[in-house]
Amino acid sequence: MAIRSASHRIGGSLIEKLLNADGGGYQGACMACGKGHSARFVEHRKKGLLTVLGPVNVSRAYYHCDPCREGVIPKDQALDIVDTGFSPGVRRMMGQVGGKEAFVEGRKDLQLLADVRVTTKAVERVSEAVGVQIEQQNQSERQQVLSGKVVPFLGKVAIPKLYVAIDGSGVPVVRRETEGRKGKDETGIAKTREAKLGCVFTQTRVDEEGYAVRDEESTTYVGAIETAECFGSRIYTEAVRRGITGAKKVIILGDGAKWIWGIAQEHFPGATEIVDLYHAREHLAKLAKLVYGAKSKKAQEWTPARRDELDEGDVEAVIAAMSKLRPRDIAAQEEVQTEIEYFRGNAKRMSYAEFRSQGLFVGSGVVEAGCKTIFGQRLKLSGMHWTVRGANAIIALRCCQLSARWEEFWETRAIG
Ligand SMILES: [Zn+2]
Repeated sequence: MAIRSASHRIGGSLIEKLLNADGGGYQGACMACGKGHSARFVEHRKKGLLTVLGPVNVSRAYYHCDPCREGVIPKDQALDIVDTGFSPGVRRMMGQVGGKEAFVEGRKDLQLLADVRVTTKAVERVSEAVGVQIEQQNQSERQQVLSGKVVPFLGKVAIPKLYVAIDGSGVPVVRRETEGRKGKDETGIAKTREAKLGCVFTQTRVDEEGYAVRDEESTTYVGAIETAECFGSRIYTEAVRRGITGAKKVIILGDGAKWIWGIAQEHFPGATEIVDLYHAREHLAKLAKLVYGAKSKKAQEWTPARRDELDEGDVEAVIAAMSKLRPRDIAAQEEVQTEIEYFRGNAKRMSYAEFRSQGLFVGSGVVEAGCKTIFGQRLKLSGMHWTVRGANAIIALRCCQLSARWEEFWETRAIG
């Protein structure tokens, strides 16, 4: 470790010389400010910069644009260090750990693994700033896709089956983010906000027993705490980027949540819609419990019989059996009606025998696992409370990392 520190110091003084060998990015007495004016040279200014080899001082030519009332430092733009004291290499490391673990753990890992010494707050600020930059790129990608300007690259072979799986999950937030919102627990005060997650993946084959097999490493993620409308164009953009226009078959997977099917209708008309089989089964088990009691013999007969009908895609039979339930309790009667409506409304999306014969996935396990990974393992750890802005930045960061687009993000920054 001591030798590593020493070699970082040597490397640091070397890189400091290199960074200062250009005359500070001096471009003459005047230069274009970028907004149509001429900015004048004022002086060379020094700035401390933390690099992966330790702290260095960088001298940069400082220009001032009078109409804009702003300083312009061309060298900061060239080095991608505008308004930051951390080099892109250090920011990449901070984002790497900040996306994966609590900021305080990230700080410790950076020191141990890379000999990079920063504060916990700095890991937080930089991780969120990187997440915001990723989201800005997402937004410009979205605008290009929605305006039809960008035709995504499609491989020579058409994608046989492209899945869009959507789910939501509560992320714990600070109190002011839930003002005026109703909660589900006995206090009636909301403590979480719903984060929406969408996965896009492809499927080419089925296994020996005819079950669908997901193409390896084909899953990408998008997510945010936002309205269904905003999320609709987000997931649509991702589907286009992944080649939906060249897919032979498109499948939308979700639970019974109405907003999911609203998005399906608006952005993916003509797609095969499938309600997660396991959610549908849960509805059956819950209802039986409510009507017959938790461990009653009747419930133990009723539920498997309905499950078999459901597996056969015979939703009519399920509904008929439900209609025969006559609980005394009024709340239970209402619940029976609600469930009948749920199955009636989703009947087409429950043609499980038909879906299976086509070798399709009938469960939304991929997106549920995605919720656990993207939200659960980073944003829902004990004691965490997020602002919506902070949560969305880290969600953007994690989606980027888990969609294997992290390297791509830093490459685009290097070119810009
Ligand atoms: Zn200007």
